[in-house]
Amino acid sequence: MTDFTTPAHDVDYAIRLDRLDKIYRGKDGKPGKHALKSLTLDVPRGCIFGLLGPNGAGKSTMINILAGTVVKTSGAASVWGVDIDDNPRQARANIGIVPQELNIDAYFTPRETLDMISGMFGVPKAERRVDEILEEIGLTDQAHSYARTLSGGMRRRLLVGKAMVHQPPILILDEPTAGVDVALRQKLWDMIRELNRNGVTIVLTTHYLEEAEALCDRIAIINHGTLITEASTEDLLKGAGSKTLVLTLEHPPQTMPKALDAFATSLDGNQLKITYAPDKMAAGELLSRADAMGLKVVDVRTEEPNLEDVFLTLVHQDEA
Ligand code: ADP
Ligand code: MG
Repeated sequence: MTDFTTPAHDVDYAIRLDRLDKIYRGKDGKPGKHALKSLTLDVPRGCIFGLLGPNGAGKSTMINILAGTVVKTSGAASVWGVDIDDNPRQARANIGIVPQELNIDAYFTPRETLDMISGMFGVPKAERRVDEILEEIGLTDQAHSYARTLSGGMRRRLLVGKAMVHQPPILILDEPTAGVDVALRQKLWDMIRELNRNGVTIVLTTHYLEEAEALCDRIAIINHGTLITEASTEDLLKGAGSKTLVLTLEHPPQTMPKALDAFATSLDGNQLKITYAPDKMAAGELLSRADAMGLKVVDVRTEEPNLEDVFLTLVHQDEA
């Protein structure tokens, strides 16, 4: 169990963002992309927090500001009670970051890698927890194997270990399971849950909504640099107020009918999924519309929304 010192203020929050704004510099001194627009967000301590949003939403920008690799334009941010402007070094020491890319030093063993990174973080030899971390990330047996011989999943776990050598109270993972197969994903989830049980606050970005649903206590959805919603996963699913109508069609349409533009839709083979608000429209009404569009419906069922539907609906409303 890791013991984290408690600062005098912001006790309940791991991360606080207050009207955080980022405008990248464009070409020829012109202002570039407005990547974060007055983003205000609190991440409570002790949770697994999911940051969701389509590509380009601003997720990595937010993480990189906390990591100190991107400079914010305005607003404030604090990490474990430490303001990133007042004390950038301490703020950064409070987080471990697992980047999306697998940047592993191929010719070092996990043991050497963790020892080296501990040194870079100024952890004295006597206080290094290399064996403990190897155990935590399940690489004890591979401690002396060259990193280039490790599988993709093992490399990813080593990246998590690298982020944890200085025992930060917060671990941030940018797309931790991108391109990882299902069995390995499950193992990574177990490891993330175990770290969380040991007291580490976890923030992760993902575009696998299933992953967010399985892992996260709370979820924030951002789009175009703006917060769309932030809630407990349970409330998000419950309060979505949407349902999904699944139509099995005789022939899938070549293109999505224009009349469905107002809905979040997806097409999977012969199955057309339409997410709708039951308080605004009855399923029967949707069915007659489908009929009017010339869609030959051979089967109908409804589904309670999962996070994917909620996400699609919210982002769809935001675009409209
Ligand atoms: P996400 O991680 O959610 O996919 P990013 O934070 O990477 O989103 O990007 C947000 C927006 O900012 C995108 O439009 C992206 O093209 C732009 N952007 C990201 N990094 C830079 C940069 N270094 N310079 C200019 N624009 C950038
Ligand atoms: Mg990103």
